[in-house]
Order: sequence, then C-alpha cells, then structure tokens
Amino acid sequence: MTSPKAKILLIYTGGTIGMVKDFTSGALIAFDFNELLSRIPEVQLLDCTIETISFETPIDSSNMNLSGWLKIATIIQENYTRFDGFVVLHGSDTMSYSASALSFILENLAKPVIFTGSQLPIGDLRTDAKENLITAIQVAALQENNQPVIQEVCLYFEYKLYRGNRTTKISAEHFNAFTSPNFPELAESGVHLRINREALKTVPADQALSVHKNFDDNVAILKLFPGINEKVLTSFFAIPNLKGIVLETYGSGNAPTENWFVTALAEAINKGIHIVNVTQCSGGSVAMGNYETSTQLKNIGVISGKDITTEAAITKLMYLLGQNCPQNSFKDQFETAIRGEML
Ligand code: ASP
Repeated sequence: MTSPKAKILLIYTGGTIGMVKDFTSGALIAFDFNELLSRIPEVQLLDCTIETISFETPIDSSNMNLSGWLKIATIIQENYTRFDGFVVLHGSDTMSYSASALSFILENLAKPVIFTGSQLPIGDLRTDAKENLITAIQVAALQENNQPVIQEVCLYFEYKLYRGNRTTKISAEHFNAFTSPNFPELAESGVHLRINREALKTVPADQALSVHKNFDDNVAILKLFPGINEKVLTSFFAIPNLKGIVLETYGSGNAPTENWFVTALAEAINKGIHIVNVTQCSGGSVAMGNYETSTQLKNIGVISGKDITTEAAITKLMYLLGQNCPQNSFKDQFETAIRGEML
C-alpha cells in the first residue's frame, strides 16, 4: 500500500528520459528538468509528495564517472532524513554501473533508491518513460508499518524491479533493456505490483547510514579472446599505478594455460595487483578448479568473482581499494557478499 505521506526526492542526472530532439542538429539533447514533470501530469495524481533536484548540467550517462556517483550520493546523504525514498533518473547506458556503485557507497541503506530512465524521450509518442517513472515513484513510496518496503538500491525498467548491483544492460533496441542474470526480480508490475518479498534485502533498524566516498579508480577491465597475445598482457600490466583488474574469462572462469599467460598474471599478483575472475557468460558463476584451465588461476591467487556482474565487480573493486583494506585480506573481502551483489 502506498502511504499518503511518503515523500519522494526525484534526482535528475540526465539521459534519454529528459531529452528532446535539437531542431538544427537532429541529435538528442537534455532539456530543462522542470519541464519534465509538466510533460507527465499523471505524476501529480500519485499518492505521495514529490520534490525534485537536478544536476546543474544534465549528462548523457556515457559521461558518468566517479564524481557523478559522489554527486548522487551527496544529494541522498543530505536529504536522507527528510525523504522516504529516492528515484534517480539516469541514462540507461551506464545505469547498471551507477546502481552498483551507489550500492557500495551507501552502507546500511534503509530506504529505497530506485534508478530508472527510458529508451525513448519523454516527449515521444511511444515513450517508455511514463511507465518507468510512475512505477519507480510508486515503488519508492511503498510503505508498511511506516517503514519503506524496499531498503536497497534498485533499478526499475519495463515492468521489472531489480537489485541494482545484479543488473546489466542487454539491449539498445528493446524497451526491455535490462536483465538480472543471477538474481530474481524484486518486483513485477502488471495489473498488480507483485513484490518478491523473499528476495528483498533489509537492514537492521539500529544501523545508521554510512556513506563511503573514497573510491579508487586505478582499475581496469580485461576481456579475454582467443588469440590474445603476450604484448597485450605486458602493456596492460604496465599501466602506471594499476591496483586491480576485472578479468573477463570464458565459461566458469577458464583461461589459457600457456606459460606466458599464467606467468604474467602471477607476476602482477606478486606486485600487489588484485585480479578478479568474472565470467564473460551472461549467466552463471565462476568456479575455479572445475577445469584444468582454471586451476592455475586458483593456484596463483586470482580472486573468484563468483556470479557477480562485471559492472558490480569493477565498482566493488574501486570501493574496496578506496577502503584501504589490508592486502592479505583483500581476496576474502572481495569474495564475501556485502550488498547482495554475489552468492
Ligand atoms: N545515451 C543515453 C544515456 O545513457 C541512453 C539512455 O538514456 O537510455 O544517457
């Protein structure tokens, strides 16, 4: 049930949802946020009060970065006690990265932070923005016994509510643009809004929100491909100040067994670079040791990303590196789920 008193803060960062076609260039550009709500008068009918705040310069989410994440986090932190829930309007291209990053930044989050956006601008006749925005607000406003039903960072798109750090963008064409390959949907919107209560994350009431703003961006992603050669690996590990990488491997975490490959990885680990093994597959988990082609990775101390997405892995890496956790416990810390992002 939606509480009549729920107060929602709508945070506009940019993205297609708030864009219009520029008459001269024909390209999509961001428009004045105040116009956004006037284009969806239905929002006024929702059983909650809504305030809005916008990035001074709304961005296409391809330009999202660490400082953008911190801006969103600061807005939530500064308004945390005044509002019951937050809806973040964000471009879909990097939405899964931002939702993952915010899940790590906001520890003990006890209120909903719902990311949404759209594939077509809000002014378009066939837009998906209306449904996404209206239901995202409704989800953020859901209360039970004066407590928010959702107490985590989520992503709402095309009738489905997902745990944000479990999502990935899968389509640049379909309205159904996201999936959560290894974790069930938290809610589905049809004639009724069906909440999957068993899947929801909750935080003990006595834990205060803690906002972690130290992220370390000395990280990179390396995707394996048949034919990858030693030069690629050597130049990759020569990146100045590199502290951690997400290694996208095959299947259940498999990689070449050639000597030059394993040696390059082992040397990097000995230099203190953390290597996280994540599968290139769109579902399933890394299980090092299942095949001979992953046993060597296990033996040299590669970290198992288990069933984490690349988006959650790279942001978790930035988060843990920013926490300065001791070198010898880093592997254990990474392999432990902290925001429901992995098994
Ligand atoms: N390029 C846009 C963005 O991510 C696409 C979108 O909003 O869906 O900002």
